[in-house]
Amino acid sequence: MDFRIPGGVEALRARAAAFVDEELIPLEADRANYDPHENIAPEPLARMRARAKELGLWAPQAPRERGGLGLPMTARAVLYEEANRAIFGPVCLNCAAPDDGNISVLAKVGTEAQQDRWMQPVIDGAVRSAFAMTEPHPGGGSDPSMIRTTAERRGDAYVVRGRKWYITGAAEAAHFILVARTSDDARAGLTAFLFHADQPGWRIVRRIGIMGPEEHGGHCELEFDGLEIPAENVLIGEGRGLKLTQTRLGPARLTHCMRWLGLARRCVDIARAYAAEREGFGVRLIDRESIQMMLGGLAMDIETGRLLTMKAAWEIDRGGFARKEVSMAKIHVANLLHRAADTAIQINGARGYSTDTPLEWIYRYARQARLVDGADEVHRMVLNRELGAAGDAFFGWPVGE
Ligand SMILES: Cc1cc2nc3c(=O)[nH]c(=O)nc-3n(C[C@H](O)[C@H](O)[C@H](O)COP(=O)(O)OP(=O)(O)OC[C@H]3O[C@@H](n4cnc5c(N)ncnc54)[C@H](O)[C@@H]3O)c2cc1C
Repeated sequence: MDFRIPGGVEALRARAAAFVDEELIPLEADRANYDPHENIAPEPLARMRARAKELGLWAPQAPRERGGLGLPMTARAVLYEEANRAIFGPVCLNCAAPDDGNISVLAKVGTEAQQDRWMQPVIDGAVRSAFAMTEPHPGGGSDPSMIRTTAERRGDAYVVRGRKWYITGAAEAAHFILVARTSDDARAGLTAFLFHADQPGWRIVRRIGIMGPEEHGGHCELEFDGLEIPAENVLIGEGRGLKLTQTRLGPARLTHCMRWLGLARRCVDIARAYAAEREGFGVRLIDRESIQMMLGGLAMDIETGRLLTMKAAWEIDRGGFARKEVSMAKIHVANLLHRAADTAIQINGARGYSTDTPLEWIYRYARQARLVDGADEVHRMVLNRELGAAGDAFFGWPVGE
């Protein structure tokens, strides 16, 4: 067994670490660099994206021949964690959700023509994208079989009617992947489509207010009232929407874990720095055993998350679905992120609750981690199903040559 990473990946990691420490962390310290929704403002974003391109850190997930780094998941695990020690790191490298997952899935299943039209501009950073699946009650949320938005075939096109909500980035996205119902078939009833924001027949009903900072373009409720999508914009074929969803969401969940590990490390860094200088009752905080237990516990939980994430990444790189590995990583890292932000705020006292550090930003952001891309309970349900189906084999090791 070999836990070492290749020298080339270490070189990338070191370059990303320097970019984060020297350029992104100083930038995020100045609130003038934030937009009204607490994300990075357009001007510094454009500047930092240009820097990421110069440094060879741009679009780690995209194929090399299309201007990306073409990294496997194991290398992305290393790079994304490093990038998200800064809260704006991933968007500056073009590996933030939802563009990251949309590029990855289009690279995997899109036709050459679909990749040229829908994926390349997202890789280039010329447009943003969104993935529209979740619906208001009584439509599909945790359970995609409940999706009610319909796409009815009429000649060479499909006509879409229905509602979606919490669609990240929708207010600024140009390219959308939409999952809609094309039949009542339990397994083959859903189909994935591509559409452009400029097409008529849909609208943003509202940008939904949330407790945390927002991705660019917010989280929107959408209404479809006769959007026409040409048949050539169906992804991987009619009736294969569930397959598309699984292909996109497994790896996308894992990339969330990669990024959240970086945010958790940042929380620990901020807590350690304060504890090392702050004194009370004649003792430095860092010299108190109670504080040492908090920091030591977090360090162990981060390392556990890295091992779960890396094992799932390795499984995906060798062609597996990594369903149970991704579910375990997702539950663990989402909860770890929440705990890391909470503990770091506690150690920082009033300063932790202020906007003088990014801890309160991370804390508010972290709460969604336990809900999005599968709530903890849904992933535990999946794990229990896998355990029931596989029995002892659930705990089997893959066997080498
Ligand atoms: C910030 C944010 C961004 C998002 N971005 C997108 C996006 O870009 N595109 C998109 O399509 N969607 C997006 N979503 C929606 C997200 O994926 C859904 O919220 C998620 O899938 C859960 O669906 P739901 O909210 O309908 O919860 P529900 O399905 O109503 O579930 C509610 C709760 O019930 C419990 N529960 C559900 N199933 C089970 C079970 N089997 N066992 C036990 N308990 C269970 C869980 O505690 C769960 O949290 C986003 C949501 C948020 C908050």
